[in-house]
Amino acid sequence: MINIVIFGPPGAGKGTQAIKLVDKYNLFHISTGDVFRKNMKEQTELGVLAQSYINKGELVPDEVTIKMLISEIESNTNVEGYIFDGFPRTTPQAEALDKILAERGTSINMCLALDVEEEELKERLRKRALDSGRADDANPEVIQNRIKVYLEETSPLKAYYANQDKFVKINGHGSIDDITARLFESIDSILA
Ligand code: AMP
Repeated sequence: MINIVIFGPPGAGKGTQAIKLVDKYNLFHISTGDVFRKNMKEQTELGVLAQSYINKGELVPDEVTIKMLISEIESNTNVEGYIFDGFPRTTPQAEALDKILAERGTSINMCLALDVEEEELKERLRKRALDSGRADDANPEVIQNRIKVYLEETSPLKAYYANQDKFVKINGHGSIDDITARLFESIDSILA
């Protein structure tokens, strides 16, 4: 089993690249943002709760997010591996993920972190807002808050994975294909 965390700030290209890795390594894609958005669309109880945080650019509370993540894993067990996209975003989430995987006799192999400068992130999110229909992409204040939350709450996870020797920084600038090639190269060298 291969389990990958695709990591990076909002707009770094995690979702775009996760899809490429799914195809090549036959992984099951879990995007917590996508699950929240689906629930928001359907106006489920989870969706209504998540929406109040997401529209402000805040994180959905750990307790809710971890519960949802466990249920995603439990309903998709017959897989060759997972790619976690947008999770973990806090230290308690990373600890919970390690525990859930350990209980299933597996673990995270690597955290691939897309490194992109702040100005470029904002530009990508501005462009994405034109067709994503995402309220959290359309508002510059919300974007700024998402970046702030990333720096304060999520970026400490770099050290979390570095301490486990699982942190790999990937240059996130350039064309989609160039970045995909860098990811493939890193994964193949780690798996070799
Ligand atoms: P994303 O699609 O990954 O950019 O996520 C969109 C929004 O969903 C984030 O700005 C958060 O509000 C929320 N969200 C997604 N994943 C998480 C997570 N792991 N923990 C808390 N909130 C999350």
